[in-house]
Amino acid sequence: MSYSYDDQNIFAKILRGEIPNKTVLETKHALAFEDIAPQAPTHVLVIPKGPYVNYDHFAQQASDEEIVGFTRAIGEVCKLLGVQPSMDGMGYRAIANTGEAGVQEVPHLHVHILSGRILGRMIPRPS
Ligand code: AMP
Repeated sequence: MSYSYDDQNIFAKILRGEIPNKTVLETKHALAFEDIAPQAPTHVLVIPKGPYVNYDHFAQQASDEEIVGFTRAIGEVCKLLGVQPSMDGMGYRAIANTGEAGVQEVPHLHVHILSGRILGRMIPRPS
């Protein structure tokens, strides 16, 4: 079954300029902006400009140019944020929550870049 993209989702509105955002980087294929409810001192979202619901949708349906452009934008954002260990940054976590198990709230692919504190275990243990 293929995905259907809801063009009324909040990130689609941000891409159309209908909702403001605090832009960190904009490229031909990606937009990076600050998360409105940061979970860490550094919390930036990187989204592709194309209509992709999640990572597997993007990885299967996007063009090579879009995939390269989006991936390079993530690299550029890490550089701009100064989180790269290779530049004495403290490191980061890149997360793409997907679907029900991933507790995805916004149905447009977004990669969270989190840093600025020790982030703890990758996922909580079940209680
Ligand atoms: P997820 O649970 O992975 O779908 O995460 C969605 C993220 O989008 C959350 O971290 C929200 O805080 C963030 N978010 C929702 N609306 C906005 C907005 N208007 N600007 C920036 N971030 C937003």
